[in-house]
Amino acid sequence: MKLASRVGRIDASGIRRIFDLARSLKDPINLSIGQPDFPVDDTVKNAAIAAISANRNSYTQTQGIPELREMSLAEEKTHTGRTWAADEILVTSGVSGGLFLALMALVDDGDEVLIPDPYFVMYKHLVRLFGGVPVYLDTYATGFVPTPEAIERACTPRTRLLLINSPANPTGRIIPADMLQGIAKVCEKRGITVISDEIYRLFAYGPCPSISSFLPDTVTLVGHSKSYAMTGWRLGYACGPKAVIDAMTKVQQYSFVCAPSVAQYAALAGPQVDHKPNIGAYRDKRDLMVGILSPTFEIAPPDGAFYLWAKVPGGLSGQQFVEKAIANNCLIIPGGVFSERDTHIRICYTVPDAKLRAGAELLVRLATS
Ligand code: PMP
Repeated sequence: MKLASRVGRIDASGIRRIFDLARSLKDPINLSIGQPDFPVDDTVKNAAIAAISANRNSYTQTQGIPELREMSLAEEKTHTGRTWAADEILVTSGVSGGLFLALMALVDDGDEVLIPDPYFVMYKHLVRLFGGVPVYLDTYATGFVPTPEAIERACTPRTRLLLINSPANPTGRIIPADMLQGIAKVCEKRGITVISDEIYRLFAYGPCPSISSFLPDTVTLVGHSKSYAMTGWRLGYACGPKAVIDAMTKVQQYSFVCAPSVAQYAALAGPQVDHKPNIGAYRDKRDLMVGILSPTFEIAPPDGAFYLWAKVPGGLSGQQFVEKAIANNCLIIPGGVFSERDTHIRICYTVPDAKLRAGAELLVRLATS
């Protein structure tokens, strides 16, 4: 059978390769899974059950149910100060759905898309799938934060988009407001649209500004997967200028149709949830991990999300160190999965403290033996 050439431009996620390597492990210390370990809050679960019982199981409007759109617009106003119009929001099937539609709507063959490196794995593959060319902005020398100067330098007449993620997977870094303002200036001057993936915005251990406060041509992607711990429910939303939201809605109509109805109704209960205990717990876990690891590993200051980006000491590559860790029943991800370099490892700290401590102590032993 002949496959379409577009699928030949992408390969299976490197994360899956590590999971294959680790399949034989029994009860490993698993520091590789990028999702929360707390359950969906009962209020949200009960809202989902009530929605099913009330027969709210049909298609919704392509744009999403009006109550959720209204709630999300209010959230944007609170978080970014920005007022989007009613037709500048689309409820999506997770941030993945939003990314897919936004890139589908914005990338033409040969368009260059700037991606700060390290990056979330999906970005480069989706850009390639849609015929775009990923252009990586190496951020290793600037604290894993993209700078306006680097963006300016990377621009060509084909540059169309910049894809940022703050707080970031895999580094946990947050792009500070002054940097975002500088980035916004360059993008405005060059006519570059920014896609801002803010899926981890709730897990911020300090101020977490959004570029949409400074740049009109921003498509902001927000997700419920991590904040509500409902990764399997596939919910998020996109806010952006009407033209792009219209285009994304048109594509959603012929692809996803709508985001899952039950998840949409359940998310309406979101504001009743007190997120503070979960955020506090992850802040404590971050501190615990940094405390044990940091004398041995150089760690990018983790401002948010639930990841640590640690440099492998002693000249081993990320892959080599991960193989050593797997041989000792601990699962982490090599930096090369998220980067054009393979000098780091990504550690996810959403596991119980006892396992975290055991994992961190093991990693230190492996790095020093
Ligand atoms: N963006 C980033 C940076 C992520 O880490 C993830 C999930 N790992 C996603 C997007 C996709 O999330 P969703 O479940 O909302 O599709």
